Amino acid sequence: MSIDRLQMAIQKSGRLSDQSRGLLKSAGIKIQANKGQLTARATNFPLDLMLVRDDDIPTFVADGVCELGIVGENVLGEYALGRPEAGIEILARLGFGRCSLKIAAPQEEEFDLSNLEGSRIATSYPLLTKKWLADQGISAEIVTMRGAVELAPRLGIASYICDLVSTGQTLEANGLKPVQTVLESEAVLVRTGREIVPDHAAALDQLKTRIDGVIQTSE
Ligand code: ATP
Ligand code: ZN
Repeated sequence: MSIDRLQMAIQKSGRLSDQSRGLLKSAGIKIQANKGQLTARATNFPLDLMLVRDDDIPTFVADGVCELGIVGENVLGEYALGRPEAGIEILARLGFGRCSLKIAAPQEEEFDLSNLEGSRIATSYPLLTKKWLADQGISAEIVTMRGAVELAPRLGIASYICDLVSTGQTLEANGLKPVQTVLESEAVLVRTGREIVPDHAAALDQLKTRIDGVIQTSE
């Protein structure tokens, strides 16, 4: 890693990793193969990658440690609600990593929005969930969980959950059904709100142009 190269944070391993790397590849950027390392280097462009957990990407970009990042709108949105001054800017919507943050209820329940009033809702996205509830004029208690949110209703921890859904299979397997959409999400390219040194700014513009080209051809 070197400070005279543009820094980009992408997910190390997970649902966004392959397509984040694929996007860079389609943009003509060759990444040196790495095993188990936390950084990787482009061999034909002044770019370094930081390979991190998706949850850490907004922090790195907000602090300017990385000028760029690729992250889900769900993770970005939750972070931004907690740190509105962070100033992270969305440069492009990338069309992959699509999922929805949804309220789910027990399958057998005849659901009505008013059922949420005064209830307990388990989620890993407390701020997005709180904001959505406030927008609906509903007051409910949020139970924050790091994972296995689908288990909460069965365990009696909460009556409802607010969780990411793509196919709905996990919900169904846990006796739940989606009833309301809180957020539609996809991966986005983000840039820091901090000032970018001129050398990096030129590389960033060039990379952005190439990525826009890739997005247009795949639309
Ligand atoms: P990490 O180890 O990086 O913290 P993670 O387990 O939090 O990984 P993944 O499950 O790899 O994250 O998901 C990364 C992102 O992929 C999500 O934040 C979301 O934007 C997107 N995504 C797309 N489909 C789904 C889905 N069905 N469930 C969860 N996330 C999804
Ligand atoms: Zn994560």
